[in-house]
Amino acid sequence: MYQALYRKYRPKTFEDVVGQKVIKKTLTNSIINDKISHAYLFTGPRGTGKTSIAKILAKIVNCESLDNITPCNKCVSCTQINNKQNTDIIEIDAASNNGVDEIRELRDKVGLVPSFGKYKVYIIDEVHMLTTAAFNALLKTLEEPPKHIIFILATTEPHKIPSTILSRCQRFDFKKISVTDIKTRLNYICKEENINIEEEAIELIGKLSDGGMRDSVSLLDQLTAYTTEKITVNDVNNVYGTITEKEISDLLTLIFNNKLSETFDLISKYDEDGKNLTKIIETIIDFLKNTLIYFNSSEYFDNEEKKKLYSKTCDLITEDQIYKTIEILLDSIKSSKTTNNVKLIFELSIIKIIELTKEKVVVQKIEKQSEIPVLEEKKKIVTETKIEKKETNTKVKENVEKLKKIRINNTLAKFNKQEFVTFKKKLDNIKELLMDPDYSSVVSLILDGELKAKGGQNLLFVYKLKNLEECFNFSLIDIEKVFSKVFNEDLKPIAVFEEEWEPIKVEFNKHMKSKTNAYEYNEETISLEEIYEITKEESISNTNEIEKIFEDMIVYN
Ligand SMILES: [Zn+2]
Repeated sequence: MYQALYRKYRPKTFEDVVGQKVIKKTLTNSIINDKISHAYLFTGPRGTGKTSIAKILAKIVNCESLDNITPCNKCVSCTQINNKQNTDIIEIDAASNNGVDEIRELRDKVGLVPSFGKYKVYIIDEVHMLTTAAFNALLKTLEEPPKHIIFILATTEPHKIPSTILSRCQRFDFKKISVTDIKTRLNYICKEENINIEEEAIELIGKLSDGGMRDSVSLLDQLTAYTTEKITVNDVNNVYGTITEKEISDLLTLIFNNKLSETFDLISKYDEDGKNLTKIIETIIDFLKNTLIYFNSSEYFDNEEKKKLYSKTCDLITEDQIYKTIEILLDSIKSSKTTNNVKLIFELSIIKIIELTKEKVVVQKIEKQSEIPVLEEKKKIVTETKIEKKETNTKVKENVEKLKKIRINNTLAKFNKQEFVTFKKKLDNIKELLMDPDYSSVVSLILDGELKAKGGQNLLFVYKLKNLEECFNFSLIDIEKVFSKVFNEDLKPIAVFEEEWEPIKVEFNKHMKSKTNAYEYNEETISLEEIYEITKEESISNTNEIEKIFEDMIVYN
């Protein structure tokens, strides 16, 4: 039977454990000097050796013929641990449902002496997940621990542990494992297992696993299943779901040259290939960080190929713009956590980045036009361009706002609860278009909001994120298309930002209670084409082209 690499190479002695020198040394000394504590708290990021060290410690304290601090692996206790039959070492996963029961049981049985070894060792993993009741039960035992008991509590989130528990434990903070240490261990495993791998690929695994040894070994494991040939950087990127630095450089070149639709095509391709878009955004941030370093001291890097890539990016935008781009991308990672539509968030952030770089394009154009660029003049033209753009923006924005008011009012004027409930149930039917590349983005956008009211043909959606609400209201043409395709009905949707919705709702409920009809239905006097200032030809050519939604946004936003 195949044994996962991380199980097979799970450390068996302190020496095997990668990193954590201080912790290993402290524990070793306390064992040698017979100063073992009754309660330990191991904190730190995942995959840094907390459970491994806990298990080794449990083995050491019970081994009958310990050699310095190395367990003999021959005595009853050691053999039983190795065969997973040892009843003196009890592992509890606090994240599982029976955490409370297990802690209660622990409290009842804590008085019993160990069956073979000197100690009963309780290893409680993810201890921060315990309920208050379970913590209280645990605290009772920690207050007066019997001599033969050792608790090892492990957690990634120490701030969630009650101070009453913290104060009774000897605490060890596990650090992330360095890329160098991870590389050394991976090289060792590859040698043992005859795995053929590029040095660069090992380096990349080390970086991607972000200080987690277990993750790095799991990734290596997946890679050996993925290819039987020599593992390359490309393979690592494919399995991890991200892209190479060369690909990032190409993507950035498109973005910084304002090639919006090509950029979107590429993102769609990554999405279809099953890449992890959040990871790609993170990788871009890392790439831009390197570019900044290159900006300031190019000698920092010794890889000529990488240097070429960073230098290419440096030529495209200014240092200040790199900082701003990183900010936009960091924001998008934050937003991506509140929605399942990372693609849309990614696309929106690219629009923002392109807006940012346009300023430089204007400056460059002027530089080309005049032999001696006058700084003041440059500034003036940049400002003028901005003002001109702002005016078109404001007008469209005003129009959208007007329409929004009308549609909110009309939804409430004709509001019918029964109708709303019935329609809400069938709203999910739009998911049938999710797989259709022409509609998928728009459908996801609709699904990100919540339908809160329906009155006649009018639909009102509420959004938790302002940018999604704006995106919805600037894409009404395509959104209406989705509804008419699925429900065969001309519906009039509108999106409202959550904070705006609250007072509207309160007001509406007040009128409902007093049974006064305060809302009068008004016909819409302006068409969507007029609102977005699209000419007839444009609106026809726009049909079904999702990327156009975003191009529209650049003009109007
Ligand atoms: Zn032993």
